[in-house]
Amino acid sequence: MRPQILFPLFAAVTSLPGIGPRFGKLLEKLCGPSVVSLLWHLPTGLVDRSAEPDLDDAVEGTIITAVVKPLAHMPPNNPRQPYRVSCVNDTGALDLVFFKAQADYLKKILPVGELRVVSGRIERYGRTPNMVHPDYILPVSRRDEIPRFEPVYPLTAGLPPKVVVKAVRAALEHLPDPAEWADAHLVKRHDWPDWDDAVRAVHNPKSHADLDPASPARQRIAYDELLANQLALALTRQHNRRLPGRPSIGSGSLRDKVLKALPYRLTGAQTMAVAEIEGDMAGSHRMLRLLQGDVGSGKTVVALMAMLIAVEAGGQAALLAPTDILARQHLATLRPLCAAAGVNIVLLTGREKGKSRDVILKDLADGTLKMVVGTHALVQSDIAFDDLRLAVVDEQHRFGVQQRIALAEKGKGVDLLVMTATPIPRTLMLTAYGDIDVSRLTEKPAGRQPIDTRVLPVERQEEIIPALKRAIDKGARIYWICPLVDESEQSDLAAATARHRALSEIFGKRVGLAHGKQKAQDRDQAMADFAAGRIDILVATVVVEVGVDVPEATVMVIEHAERFGLAQLHQLRGRVGRGKGKSSCLLLYQGPLSETAKARLQIMRDTEDGFRIAEEDLKLRGGGEALGTRQSGLPDFRLVDLAAHGDLIPVARDDAKLALEQDPELVGDRGRALRVLLYLFERDSVVRTLRSG
Ligand code: ADP
Ligand code: MG
Repeated sequence: MRPQILFPLFAAVTSLPGIGPRFGKLLEKLCGPSVVSLLWHLPTGLVDRSAEPDLDDAVEGTIITAVVKPLAHMPPNNPRQPYRVSCVNDTGALDLVFFKAQADYLKKILPVGELRVVSGRIERYGRTPNMVHPDYILPVSRRDEIPRFEPVYPLTAGLPPKVVVKAVRAALEHLPDPAEWADAHLVKRHDWPDWDDAVRAVHNPKSHADLDPASPARQRIAYDELLANQLALALTRQHNRRLPGRPSIGSGSLRDKVLKALPYRLTGAQTMAVAEIEGDMAGSHRMLRLLQGDVGSGKTVVALMAMLIAVEAGGQAALLAPTDILARQHLATLRPLCAAAGVNIVLLTGREKGKSRDVILKDLADGTLKMVVGTHALVQSDIAFDDLRLAVVDEQHRFGVQQRIALAEKGKGVDLLVMTATPIPRTLMLTAYGDIDVSRLTEKPAGRQPIDTRVLPVERQEEIIPALKRAIDKGARIYWICPLVDESEQSDLAAATARHRALSEIFGKRVGLAHGKQKAQDRDQAMADFAAGRIDILVATVVVEVGVDVPEATVMVIEHAERFGLAQLHQLRGRVGRGKGKSSCLLLYQGPLSETAKARLQIMRDTEDGFRIAEEDLKLRGGGEALGTRQSGLPDFRLVDLAAHGDLIPVARDDAKLALEQDPELVGDRGRALRVLLYLFERDSVVRTLRSG
């Protein structure tokens, strides 16, 4: 149950003065439904009203505050002209300008001959400075009501700035003062304010330095968000560790057969990863391990070794893939290898139906079948295993935690291996997985050639056609990736079909098309045609992004490369350079490019190292955005700016870990404070994993 002290923060925004249903809806759209979500909406700018220059010297475009005396009201001659009130003081003259004004009202608030304080932006056309629609007009006695500094918030259409400012002010009035949850030494070392003071400070910036993510107040609240994140992950881990695991000890007999059948030898990194997995599986805890390896680093065969361990130990293993295409591809890779070991492996996706599905289900349930590859169809409730010991989840960011859990629940103490190609820097990985064990495939299989990457303006694409023709004559296969037009698949599709038509005119029939809106069968057919060499060019939307393996493909063309995230470009490029042929990648961009955009494409040209790319991109653009939060599986932070606050991640990890070591159930003074922190960041469900409430 949420602690009472937080109740005011979780009230609806409509409970704030001035926020009715209409503004409430807009605020909800802008930042979320509750008071706390409004408080997480940080100002991005600052209006400084402290300037009080001589009116004659007031500079165009600046904000000034002045005490003036209205001399005359000058209503317009026609409605399109503004209403003017000419004012003076000792330092010069100022015209206040109003469009569509109500004369009565203006006469009331700006009586001739009486002093008024006004504040607003200066515009200059003629000799006298103008102030169009002043932000403030008050009697001098109420001058205090004009804030010296005013925060500027990101807005949404229909929401006036003043409404947001006022709502935030009201929210700040009911700010609780919770007990300190952060480590006292840390707070002292960084000279951080208390949480509530920090929240007040971030909404009352007094200088541009206060808007900097590195300011103490912003750092403080970002740290709190990271601490909640790390604590939640650590608690989940603590909870999982308490669930009993089962030692799976393999004889090695099946693995030996497969290793003999492989046309290559495992790399050192692959051998090491298998050994780490073997160690985990033999232990009495449940394995939770991430296998991280760049595209093409050879994760699949490592997964197979793990699956064979489960079978050698007398159990079953399942591999969960994010798409039909990938599941099929995994099956195609694994089946001949499994055959070498005499192990049968089957496919189970949404397309296996009727009798054949019934047979698979029966064989999985009675243990006849030891291995299965599939999509989310695998986690359906009517699927049961005789003795599932290992679940491998490929490209995990496409699955929710729910699906992982659902699969793990189909056995007892199921070990879990998660595979990802996303080159998340280590610190960022902490935010997504916490202290998960990681095996990394750092070395690429031998014999890989570097990919020749070029960056070209799209206007020059005609020039590459002859080179493509020559490449095809020599047996090359070409991916042509179409742009992300916007977030809607419909327009991406339009671009892809248009490109398909244009290329077909140039290259004839041997051009195929694959996109997300196709029938799965047609798409698979296009991919299969490409893999088998029945077509030379595959025009595709980003559906080919993940995992597809066609060693003969040696050319990758990416249109509108500037619209893709670097991580995604890297994934796409990883589709070539997998075989023996020399590969190339052409990044076509639409200019003009910003400096950042230029630098990003440059990185792609300069390196193939996924980690370097991710880190450089992080520097250029900042965390979640750089990697595409949705893609990378990173959490969506409200207050953390990963580029600016990245150094705090390991600090929060250590703080959370130590706090749990000292007080695993969070029942001491600090433990209780930490519970409040978890509720503040809506991690209610992990609090429920604690033994005592
Ligand atoms: P990814 O890590 O992207 O899933 P895959 O497992 O699909 O990579 O492997 C990419 C390609 O490399 C496959 O064609 C696979 O057969 C090959 N491969 C894997 N390991 C090795 C190795 N040790 N030596 C040579 N080729 C390998
Ligand atoms: Mg793969």
